[in-house]
Amino acid sequence: SLSLSRKASAVKPSSTLAITAKAKEMKGQGIDVVGFGAGEPDFNTPDNINKAAIQAINEGFTKYTPASGILELKEAICRKFKSFNNIDYKLNQIVISNGGKHSLTNIFEAILNPGDEVIIPAPYWLSYPEIVKLADGVPVYIRGEKEQGYKVNAEQIQAAITENTKALILNTPNNPTGMVYSKEELKAIADVAVKNDIYVVADEMYENLIYGSEEHVSIASLGEEIYKRTITCSGVAKSYAMTGWRIGYTGSSVEIAKLMGSVQSHQTSNPNSIAQKATVEALNGPQDTVEIMKEEFDKRRKYMYERVLNMPLISALEPTGAFYLFVDVSDVLKKEYKGEVIGTTEKLASILLDDYAVAVIPCGDFGFDDHIRLSYAISITQIEKGLDRIEKFVKSL
Ligand code: PLP
Repeated sequence: SLSLSRKASAVKPSSTLAITAKAKEMKGQGIDVVGFGAGEPDFNTPDNINKAAIQAINEGFTKYTPASGILELKEAICRKFKSFNNIDYKLNQIVISNGGKHSLTNIFEAILNPGDEVIIPAPYWLSYPEIVKLADGVPVYIRGEKEQGYKVNAEQIQAAITENTKALILNTPNNPTGMVYSKEELKAIADVAVKNDIYVVADEMYENLIYGSEEHVSIASLGEEIYKRTITCSGVAKSYAMTGWRIGYTGSSVEIAKLMGSVQSHQTSNPNSIAQKATVEALNGPQDTVEIMKEEFDKRRKYMYERVLNMPLISALEPTGAFYLFVDVSDVLKKEYKGEVIGTTEKLASILLDDYAVAVIPCGDFGFDDHIRLSYAISITQIEKGLDRIEKFVKSL
């Protein structure tokens, strides 16, 4: 018959895309929309990285490469894992792929069998459940409540483990909350993972973007036993303003790396040859542009947090990583607007877009249906303008 794949049909289209598309359309009509939806840095890719790519093209480095990536980049990644993350990975433990998203896909294809459960702490990045389901896994959700700093603890993870549990996803710094797990918290989580013999998929895409006195800790660095069970996933999209280049990478056991490499060899062959050369420069070249971007993000972060703190009806915890502010709007949802209870974050987002020309991300698809996400990967003048509008709205309720 002409029926379609049940698995593909069950994929939930990204709700954030609908808002972003509408905001774009309004901008096209000349409406001055402030977009707080951005999931990518607003900076250009640093020049030295662009130049390395141009050089790669001019030198004819435009052919297939080994499926799991070029040696030169694997060496750069091993060095970075050692110096920045304090993890020892050898070359045969590294797989380079077409972005962090693709790395996550590879990971779950490599470790899951049908029915295997994957624990996903909410709030979560909305792609995790879909990636897990596409790899025949079953997402199991636990909640990091606001009172816990939106983080889950070892006891909650232990309580969610069944005989079918295969892995836990751990995202620090976190999208959408901007929270960072401490070494002590990670140690306790590592103990649970080791005791129950489950994998930890450590998504550390935002590892370079931590503000204030907190530091990034990689769970795989906390001992031999947790190292064996962890797949560490990172990339250059967020740290180096390279979202369009599509390079992500993993460090894992040799066995898992082998499986990911062979899956990838049939699905996409190698990651883009030119982008791999650019990534060598990103990791090995001067890091001052990263610092400049970080300082700018930090200024915006402080400004945004202060402003929201002083508004009625909404609140937020101070984020210390990534470039998002996770805003509790539960009190706003109880209010009436134009004679109707607002009720849902989708409704709130459409009011803000239609009547205040501000695009925000409703977080139902991130597992928290009374929160919205504001990105500060836009200029400070835009942030100021957008927050003025949000303030006007909440004060009118
Ligand atoms: N992990 C998290 C938590 C993210 O927020 C993102 C991008 O939004 C990714 C992974 C994927 O990054 P990439 O653009 O490299 O696929």
